Amino acid sequence: MTEVFPDISNPDAGPEDLHQALTKLFIDTITNQPRSLQKRIGPSEYGHPCDRRIGAKLAGAQVVNNRGIPWKPLIGTNMHEWAKETVARHTLTLPLADILGPRYMVEMRVNVGDEIDGEPLNGDCDIYDRVTATALDYKFVGGEQLRGYRANGPGPQYRVQAHSYARGWVRKGYPVRHVAVWFLPRDQEFRQNHFWSEPYDEQIVIDAMNRAAGISRMVSALGTAALPILSTADAMCTYCPYFLPASTEVEQACPGHPGATGYVR
Ligand code: SF4
Repeated sequence: MTEVFPDISNPDAGPEDLHQALTKLFIDTITNQPRSLQKRIGPSEYGHPCDRRIGAKLAGAQVVNNRGIPWKPLIGTNMHEWAKETVARHTLTLPLADILGPRYMVEMRVNVGDEIDGEPLNGDCDIYDRVTATALDYKFVGGEQLRGYRANGPGPQYRVQAHSYARGWVRKGYPVRHVAVWFLPRDQEFRQNHFWSEPYDEQIVIDAMNRAAGISRMVSALGTAALPILSTADAMCTYCPYFLPASTEVEQACPGHPGATGYVR
């Protein structure tokens, strides 16, 4: 039997009031959810092509680029959660999983190394596949980005990230032969997905760590005064947390790479 609640309808309220009420709920929820408090640089960031951006992160520079309600990241985060639960549930149902263990290790923490300023470089790898010995990361991206990754590969930041997770798994004692980044469309049909992979190469991680360690030494010595002298790159500056158009105080905010084109990996 359907329960009947008291009539609270308001003859003066229309669909626009409903729209406003739900909009407020969504915005309040998104803006009040806990933000990432991570100060330490992680595997997803230290391979970024811009030295200044890495330096700003290591220096704890203030985030100045407020890009409004982070709706697209919210979609990506929720898709990420769905993918994690789907794979984790599935892997327990595979034949002999109770004897051989799961095929997929899902979202497990790995330690990539301790080489950046003596700080451990830790991260959460989306999937390690024990059958193909592959460390995989998902990216939920928009159509324009997806076309760029399909045409040009994952770019240095995501490539370093994938190899870093692989190194973390090796350090845990698991064999890794391949790395992969699976680009999944955030606003297109599933068939648009793009799966990139290559053989694991530890040298990519060592080179990236050495580069970040050099930037870290500059920041340790000079603080944010290092930022103006660090080199920049045309790498999606408008999405950078330290981007402020026409800023002249580079120690506080970056005006972007000279002549930046906007969407460039
Ligand atoms: S705005 Fe561009 S140039 Fe400046 S730190 Fe960020 S990525 Fe580098």
